[in-house]
Amino acid sequence: MQRRTTHEVVPEVVEHRTHPMSRFLRSDRLPHIWCAGCGLGTALSCFTYALDELELTEHDIAVVSGIGCTGRAAGYLNLDSYHTTHGRAIPFATGLTVVHPEKKVVVFSGDGDLFAIGGNHFIHAARRNVDLTVLCVNNFNYGMTGGQFGPTTPVGCRGTTAPYGNYENPFNLPYLAASSGAVYVARWTSLHARRLKEAIVEAIMKPGFTFVEVIAPCPTNYGRRNRIGEGLDELRTYEERSVIRHGADPKDADLLPGRDVVVGTFIDRVRPTFLDMYDEQIVSRNQFEKAK
Ligand code: SF4
Repeated sequence: MQRRTTHEVVPEVVEHRTHPMSRFLRSDRLPHIWCAGCGLGTALSCFTYALDELELTEHDIAVVSGIGCTGRAAGYLNLDSYHTTHGRAIPFATGLTVVHPEKKVVVFSGDGDLFAIGGNHFIHAARRNVDLTVLCVNNFNYGMTGGQFGPTTPVGCRGTTAPYGNYENPFNLPYLAASSGAVYVARWTSLHARRLKEAIVEAIMKPGFTFVEVIAPCPTNYGRRNRIGEGLDELRTYEERSVIRHGADPKDADLLPGRDVVVGTFIDRVRPTFLDMYDEQIVSRNQFEKAK
């Protein structure tokens, strides 16, 4: 029997290798740049499964990202997707959703992009209840630029700019989102793929500002410097330490080294959206003008 070379294309194998959600992916951009064991592939995959469950097409949705490893997601999606400048995904997405309210606009970005440089945009979009879904993949550091500590790095954990351990208090992202006004707030890890997909479905369906945090491994930078090991080792810690507490007060969801990782749907409430308020204002203005 003749031995195959590694470059020989076997159609059935190629077919088998195709991702089930390949219609949402730009296959010509693959293979992706993400490291082995990174949680970003799972997060993106869960997002495509959510789109499939919602029966959304490329005409119904747009995705906006900022800069960083997570920001690469926009380039891999076969949708209207925009890779914006560092920290500016939310203002870009706000303009898009206001001009195209018929489209669901999703911001898909990382902790450094959304909560350091773009932190101010996040709190104001949540306060205004802009009709956006924000998915934040939180890997506790700036992975793309080499592992600097960021706004979610736990106290005592190491980064290239914190070789003896970070001494700044990190944000508790669900608490920040909830206290700023988000109407839906959930947190899962990349281990909880099915529950994460369900949370993304719920977040996209709900009008207003919705937020899902995805805790994910960055074995290349954060995992290595903090002696967590490979991506799989970090997933094992999620398995051991995750506690599902739906309805928990997000202020009790701090992520502390060695402690429980509280996950679940924390907030699900109704508030008028930014466009509801705007429309109401136009009606009152017209009534005022007529009465003059
Ligand atoms: Fe993922 Fe970290 Fe590699 Fe970036 S540097 S692709 S976050 S493992």
